[in-house]
Parts: sequence; structure tokens; C-alpha cells
Amino acid sequence: MVATPIGNLGDLSPRARSVLARVDGICAEDTRTSGQLLAQFGIQQSLLALHEHNEDRIAARVVADLAAGKTLALVSDAGTPLVSDPGYALVKAVREAGGELRAIPGPSALIAALSVAGLPTDEFRFAGFLPAKPNARRERLRALAAETATLVFYEAPHRIVECAEDLASELGAGRLVCLARELTKRFEQSVRLPAGELAAWLKADDNHQRGEFVLVVAGAPAGEAGSVVSAEQTLRLLLKELP
Ligand code: SAM
Repeated sequence: MVATPIGNLGDLSPRARSVLARVDGICAEDTRTSGQLLAQFGIQQSLLALHEHNEDRIAARVVADLAAGKTLALVSDAGTPLVSDPGYALVKAVREAGGELRAIPGPSALIAALSVAGLPTDEFRFAGFLPAKPNARRERLRALAAETATLVFYEAPHRIVECAEDLASELGAGRLVCLARELTKRFEQSVRLPAGELAAWLKADDNHQRGEFVLVVAGAPAGEAGSVVSAEQTLRLLLKELP
């Protein structure tokens, strides 16, 4: 499993580069994107497309190839495979078939954003992409509102403003949020501010809404989570009294 850059070619590790050059073939989320990356490093490889619609079929083929003594790499378009990217079915199949798996770690937007957010990192919950539909998104945020660990979301540029508004309405305007955009790229930017100010910051400059985003959100204060638990406990006690 080979991590590739999330925007800065300098972040492809020497080991990743050497592994990608040496393996017998590479499974890639998008063969064109990965072909371009490999070309930048002068690497010529046979590429096999792996995406959510063919992952089971490709996994079976990879298991057979590995059993025949081949070595294969998996890359996604950017960052670490399997992190909001294809690869889980393949890794599971290889694991279950007793094949050998090796991690070639490297960039991931999730970890890069956490490292600059200025929010607690001792415990965090990666929640991937929020649902695209407003009602489902708000419901998901409500379900996460009492989480005391730092929350991390990926978000698309065309939904970033709506998402910022929902963060403020569902988690509270005072919750600290770090928005990290275009990490490792030319226009990299990260700001940390209360959720209630995020939408205004995004709208203040069209550039603020461009690119790729990670949102790192402070967890609920422990007291708040405690009060949710005690509300549940109270409810349980009251239910016992009902006829
Ligand atoms: N596997 C990747 C990883 O390890 O980070 C994530 C893949 S996911 C399909 C793509 C999302 O990651 C983007 O929509 C964005 O939310 C986030 N992302 C990727 N690159 C980024 C960057 N350079 N800056 C900020 N966010 C980024």
C-alpha cells in the first residue's frame, strides 16, 4: 500500500518511488492520474484500474497474482490508499488469502491537517465525507455533536459553505474549527476560528472556497458529553416509572 503526494511531488518518499519502480504491476484508482505521477519520476509500469465497481474482481486477480509470486502495489489518486479511497476489499481479500501486505506510509490529508490544526490530537475521530444532502448531513452532525474527540472531515469545494453553516448550527457557533485547504500546494492555507465565523470567512474571498479541504473540529467539551449521558440515564430511570 503506497502513499503518494497530496499536492507536492517532493512528498513522494524515496522508498515509495523505489517500490513503485520495482513491483511487477500497480493497481491504481485512476490509471491516468497515477500514470502522470509515475511519468514525473521516469517510472514505466503496467497499471490496472481499481475502483469501487470492480474492486472484488480485481482483488481476486491480485490474490492469484500474489500467490504466483508477483509483487504488486496499490496507489490512490493522492495520499494514502483506503483513507476515503478504494482498497479495503482488496486488502481484506489478500489478508484472508494469507498474502503478505506491506505499508509504504506517507502523505495523508487527514494527518497533515491534524498536524497544523492546533486542536487536540490525543484522540480524534475521522468521519470522512459528510452526506451530500442537507438533511442527512445535519442528522450526521447531530449524531456526532457529543463526541469529545477531535473530529476530522473531508469536504468538497462546492459544499464547503453549506457545511460550515451546518457545523455552526448543529455543533454550536462557538466550536473551534480549523479549515485546511490546498495542503502542501502553492496556495496552502489554514485558519482556526469559531464555527459561527467560518461561513463568513469563506464568503469573504472567492479564493477561500477553492481547492481541497479538510475540516478539523474541536470535540464537545467533556461536560457536554457528560450531560448527554446523564440525560440518557435520567430517561432510563424515568422509563422504569412508566406503566
Ligand atoms: N486518500 C487521501 C488521503 O490520504 O488524504 C484522501 C482521498 S479523498 C477521496 C480526497 C479528499 O481529501 C479531498 O476531497 C479533500 O477533502 C482531502 N484532500 C486531499 N488532498 C488535500 C489537500 N492537498 N489539501 C486539503 N485536503 C485534501
